[in-house]
Amino acid sequence: MTDTQRLKEHCDLRRLVEQDLGTAPLRGGRAYLWKCPFHHEHKGFSLAVWANGYRCFGACDTSGDALDWLTNYRRLSFVEALRVLGERVENIAPVERKCLKSPSEPPEWDWQHRAERIVSQAEETLWSEVGEPALNYLTGRGLTTRTIRAARLGYVPGDFRSWRVIEGMDVPCGITIPWFAADALWAVKVRRAYGTPKYQQIKGGNVNGLYGADGMADRDVALFCEGEFDTLLARQEAGNLVAPVTLSSATAILSSRWYAELTHCHTVLVAYDRDAAGEKGANRLLSLSPRFRPIQVPQGKDITEFYLNGGDIYAWIADALKEKQSDLEEPQYAP
Ligand SMILES: [Zn+2]
Repeated sequence: MTDTQRLKEHCDLRRLVEQDLGTAPLRGGRAYLWKCPFHHEHKGFSLAVWANGYRCFGACDTSGDALDWLTNYRRLSFVEALRVLGERVENIAPVERKCLKSPSEPPEWDWQHRAERIVSQAEETLWSEVGEPALNYLTGRGLTTRTIRAARLGYVPGDFRSWRVIEGMDVPCGITIPWFAADALWAVKVRRAYGTPKYQQIKGGNVNGLYGADGMADRDVALFCEGEFDTLLARQEAGNLVAPVTLSSATAILSSRWYAELTHCHTVLVAYDRDAAGEKGANRLLSLSPRFRPIQVPQGKDITEFYLNGGDIYAWIADALKEKQSDLEEPQYAP
């Protein structure tokens, strides 16, 4: 058992919530009931809290455990929340410290401004004759021209080893993938035609963004993919079911800023590649909260491979959510 699990089991969440919302106005069995603060409930008492977890049975359907309560309601950082649960921070197992990064900020406005101009130029190039090979590569990955345009993908021509200076910035040659989120441009990743690493980025970008984060605003299920192209494909095929996002690799770490934005998602599916790095990254996310659930493509190593071999992404995700729905018939946190 990890230290975090032990701490959560020691804590009676009903006492913690009483500190925040006062004595429970209603009780039902072992659950205490409150007006749900997450959707500012006026009528009714939809928030049920057990010793080991909470769930809103009303409009927002949010749920979680003591750690979620502290990070989502009290807006504490992961480490602060552990402190409240009685952990001495120096005792936190190193692996758990690695689950969340401290909040991050987008690059300076000047960088964003220049990078945005590079993104626009690269977009123009992609749709010109020069961009044809790059465009073929993208459509060959199953992306439609509509998806490519909406994602504002672009192309900086040149040998895969070369970098060019544009707008006074060092730009690698290849397919440009702008990371827009929360009204900012966080980074511009570049998929090079060959060579390792496959991806570079315009110097000065912040890779602690969350690609696709804006899509979470009107979805209550998020889907963590390993890379940007898988994310775009999942959005294209199943964007009305889930908000696909990516940290850009299985090894990247979620920052507490984006963890907070996931608050209203009752389910966070993690669809990492079927390899060692994917498994490790997925486990790190799964340790954050019971709302995170693993999901694997039925065939192939990743979402793109599954799709290119004829797989139906929509049906796959819809099925996974149906399974989740039947789990709900018995409340997850019922005693
Ligand atoms: Zn609610």
